[in-house]
Amino acid sequence: IPEGLPAVLTITLAVGVQAMARRNAIVRRLPAIETIGSVSVICTDKTGTLTRNEMMVSSVLTHQSLFTLQGIGYEPKGTLLLENTEVSPAEYAVLEELARAAILCNDAALHDHEGVWTVEGDPMEGALLAFASKIGIEIRKEQADWMRTDTIPFDTKHRFMATLNHDYQHRAFVFIKGAPEQILAMCINQSVADGNVESLNKAYWQERADSIAALGQRVLAFAVKPVKSEHTVLERTDIESTLTLIGMVGMIDPPRVEAIAAVAECHTAGIRVKMITGDHAKTAAAIGKQIGLQNSSKVLTGADLDGMNDASLKEAVLKCDIFARTSPEHKLRLVMALQSHGMTVAMTGDGVNDAPALKRADVGIAMGKKGSEAAKEVAELVLADDNFASIASAVREGRTVYDNIKKVISWTLPTNAGEAMTIIVALLFGMTLPVTPIQILWINLITDVTLGIALAFEPTDENTIRRPPRPRGEPLLSSELVWHIVLVSILFLCGVYGIYAYAIDRGYSVELARTLAMNALVVMEIFHLFFIRNIYGTSLTWKAVRGTKVLWMTVIIITVAQFSITYLPPLQAIFATVAVPFLDCWLVIGIGVALFIIIETEKQIRLRLKAIKS
Ligand code: ADP
Ligand code: MG
Repeated sequence: IPEGLPAVLTITLAVGVQAMARRNAIVRRLPAIETIGSVSVICTDKTGTLTRNEMMVSSVLTHQSLFTLQGIGYEPKGTLLLENTEVSPAEYAVLEELARAAILCNDAALHDHEGVWTVEGDPMEGALLAFASKIGIEIRKEQADWMRTDTIPFDTKHRFMATLNHDYQHRAFVFIKGAPEQILAMCINQSVADGNVESLNKAYWQERADSIAALGQRVLAFAVKPVKSEHTVLERTDIESTLTLIGMVGMIDPPRVEAIAAVAECHTAGIRVKMITGDHAKTAAAIGKQIGLQNSSKVLTGADLDGMNDASLKEAVLKCDIFARTSPEHKLRLVMALQSHGMTVAMTGDGVNDAPALKRADVGIAMGKKGSEAAKEVAELVLADDNFASIASAVREGRTVYDNIKKVISWTLPTNAGEAMTIIVALLFGMTLPVTPIQILWINLITDVTLGIALAFEPTDENTIRRPPRPRGEPLLSSELVWHIVLVSILFLCGVYGIYAYAIDRGYSVELARTLAMNALVVMEIFHLFFIRNIYGTSLTWKAVRGTKVLWMTVIIITVAQFSITYLPPLQAIFATVAVPFLDCWLVIGIGVALFIIIETEKQIRLRLKAIKS
């Protein structure tokens, strides 16, 4: 029985956890690593994961003009352009109204640390504050003049946020911001400055909002409604209709450079990447294209998904990579549709409502920074930096760990099968045991574990990220591996009996013959270890022989240990060993070399045959 196997496997997983943590992916459950390595489709958020979540207002739309706003980051400095000529915001009174709504319907704050502007709160809302400052409105003053008395917080379900504000002249307004379709449906008027309104030109706004979204900008609409000053409790019914639209803004949110590279890497690894976002279809498509998603022209919206039954969704899900205006329930349906194709699905999420989808996915991934506790609680993986690139590295590490587990098993099982067969053969034919029980224990518990650990530290192979994902039901022991185990077990058996028979034949004592047999077993293990490291390539390259630091350390430790139990009298007494003559040491090593040559030749022939066949 390979007593050392559970220990070595756990160490392999633990080494993988550490490697992932170094790349900002925190694994919450040890066995999840194995699943992470087999992921075949990654469903990811857009904002903050594929994009930087460093927003800046770039387009400003009012009832008659579309402005462009310049600037860098959250710094409240930048010029306003109308048809490429600089204009003064003061000439357009609606802008002031828009900026006021942006300040009041807002929970973020901007801070200036010696010229570096940072946001406290939602980056999108921070961008709105910077926008208001650029228009020339003083944030502090507005906030002081207009006290907030009630609020309806933003929710991905209704996609808007509303606040009720009172000033000290007994005036009161409800300010609302949210997704353009949502807000437009609630408006009847549009503002033309100084409190004057005209009836809403829905077609104008819709068309302009679409054109801003097509640039990859996130569009947000602002509306207002005057209420009586006694009104202090904000209800859904207050805002359901009769709002006045003030204007819209479009925010740029550049894609992460590393996400673009990571998406490309996923594609070479045969992993599909799908974007699931609450944002507008056009915005999603534009960002999808910049990121390099496969079908960036086809977008399905939440409404489209609602209109499909499970069968048509199952079909649609393969052809589409971008899902926009979705709510958390859609994520769950998408996971299930993908799983029905036998895919291993990784799904990201941050909100409380995302928990069911994360739980259902094979690998639930929660955002470490903006994620809720509920999402982290059910996730297998937590991203410390909310970055898509970290998911891709986690998958690569997961594949490495799985490869290493496979190597550990392919290395341990033949050794143990060889040992077991040695004993069984001896018992069956009534011969003296060529290795004693205590020597077997030594090999199983000391040399196996120590040498096995070297495999836990095997680095990622170049091919690891070029292979397609392994199928869900693929057995750990492939037929190739089973054949390898059988072959090596027989060779181990021959090696042990060979040297034992040779020793008895030369008239050596049984103790000496056993010492030789045990040492031959360990030397064969070491050579087999070098073979297993490159089970899919050639082992006779400089890189393969150089190995890793851990590998050579374990080999040196085991060599010293073998010399000690062979030559040190106190240990000789325990293990019933005797000193081996110098020349026979070479014989022991020769057996290891012979084993290596045989299995390496066999592998090369097998690889050639495979190449010829394909
Ligand atoms: P994403 O998947 O891009 O994070 P969300 O579900 O957070 O999308 O947002 C969906 C839409 O809701 C956005 O496109 C925007 O129009 C609107 N929205 C997002 N955050 C807020 C907010 N704090 N206040 C009002 N509306 C918002
Ligand atoms: Mg969001």
